[in-house]
Amino acid sequence: MTPRRIAILGAGPIGVETAALLADREDLDIHLYEAASPGAHVRRWDHVQFFSPWEMNRSPWGEARLQASDTPLPDPADYPTGASYRQEYLQPLLNTLRPRITLHEETSALGVSRSAALKGDLLANPHRKEVPFLLHVRGPDGERYDTADVVIDATGVLSNPAGMGPGGLPALGEQALNGELLRGIPDVHGTHRELLASQRILLLGHGHSALTTLDGLLKLREDHGDTQIIWAFRTDQEPRDLIADDPLPERARLDALGNRAARGEFPGVLPLPGSLVKRLEPRGHSVAVTLTRQDGDESLQVDRVIANVGYRPDTSLYRELQVHLCYASDGPMKLAASLLSQSGGDCLAVDAGGPETLQNPEPNFFILGAKSYGRNSNFLLRTGFDQIAQLPSLLG
Ligand SMILES: Cc1cc2nc3c(=O)[nH]c(=O)nc-3n(C[C@H](O)[C@H](O)[C@H](O)COP(=O)(O)OP(=O)(O)OC[C@H]3O[C@@H](n4cnc5c(N)ncnc54)[C@H](O)[C@@H]3O)c2cc1C
Repeated sequence: MTPRRIAILGAGPIGVETAALLADREDLDIHLYEAASPGAHVRRWDHVQFFSPWEMNRSPWGEARLQASDTPLPDPADYPTGASYRQEYLQPLLNTLRPRITLHEETSALGVSRSAALKGDLLANPHRKEVPFLLHVRGPDGERYDTADVVIDATGVLSNPAGMGPGGLPALGEQALNGELLRGIPDVHGTHRELLASQRILLLGHGHSALTTLDGLLKLREDHGDTQIIWAFRTDQEPRDLIADDPLPERARLDALGNRAARGEFPGVLPLPGSLVKRLEPRGHSVAVTLTRQDGDESLQVDRVIANVGYRPDTSLYRELQVHLCYASDGPMKLAASLLSQSGGDCLAVDAGGPETLQNPEPNFFILGAKSYGRNSNFLLRTGFDQIAQLPSLLG
């Protein structure tokens, strides 16, 4: 029998772990497509320490493969950085998969459809699943079409940052300034030190990325005491809900630090709760910023802007497929409904749900990993492993 061709989009942690679980199946021909190089999104936060320990960041089947190949595994209780996770786990795991799987590096998936069926064709067409998927990809040799019987979208969200303006729109002038703005968590001890030291910095957002950035900037201030931090965030409440007896100490530390900073307890940090960025304009080497606050607009001038305001899933990849998305989160509907029904403060307490939460109207198309959570930033690798473990029952 000809093996079924399975296309996994994205060689991040979840794409590689998916390939690792399925790699030994003779009935599957596995193709892993990666826009850059494996772990490219994690590379952006190489300098950041995970808040979950190694034991939560490795799948049982990944560990088994590495043990079988005599690759030493770091202490399960230690905490990797993005870089050590890539170098000591993700890359060695990928090495165990070759030549069983085909890795298409520097190859972006641009769109997915069916080779002989349009999105609007016969909504309940029982034969839809027999028509192969058609993948529009761009690799080192240009554009091409590939086919697949099963497609797994594990492309994450980091390529698609949210706008920093009101209502999730870009602030006025944001797009023109794009190259000047820092997104993600700056490396204050390395690449970004010179750029940020002794500057007047506007930090936006109050999620864990923003808190990690704030923590880094406070460390930068220990050596460069004239660095000024203006911290603007949307809520006018304490920005973090503390989790009682949080089993993840690093997360607990960051949450507590955020609330203290919001109360103005750190010299050099000016908290501006209840703020939205309305306009950004270049002024020589600085940026003029208009914030909308409860009492009206407020203008300030800063040297740097760091936007840690979240990401959006790029749903254009499956625009031509019959994918049912949640109108609020942009995540696949069944999983989104399950997440909503158990919404609470602690992502550790979230149940991945059964295999049915991964299904949507398009047969044999699955969204896994960080992207499966849509706009919800609570995704944990451990949840991703639970998702992957459901796949064999869905693939038959
Ligand atoms: C700073 C930070 C810290 C985190 N810390 C933790 C933690 O401590 N514990 C935890 O469990 N989780 C943590 N997470 C959350 C989550 O586990 C990670 O974001 C994880 O990287 C998600 O894995 P993924 O494979 O779903 O997506 P990603 O890591 O985003 O990987 C997606 C891959 O797809 C590729 N890609 C994108 N578009 C395309 C395309 N069109 N075609 C082909 N390839 C494409 C990308 O280049 C990338 O390699 C953290 C996240 C961040 C941002």
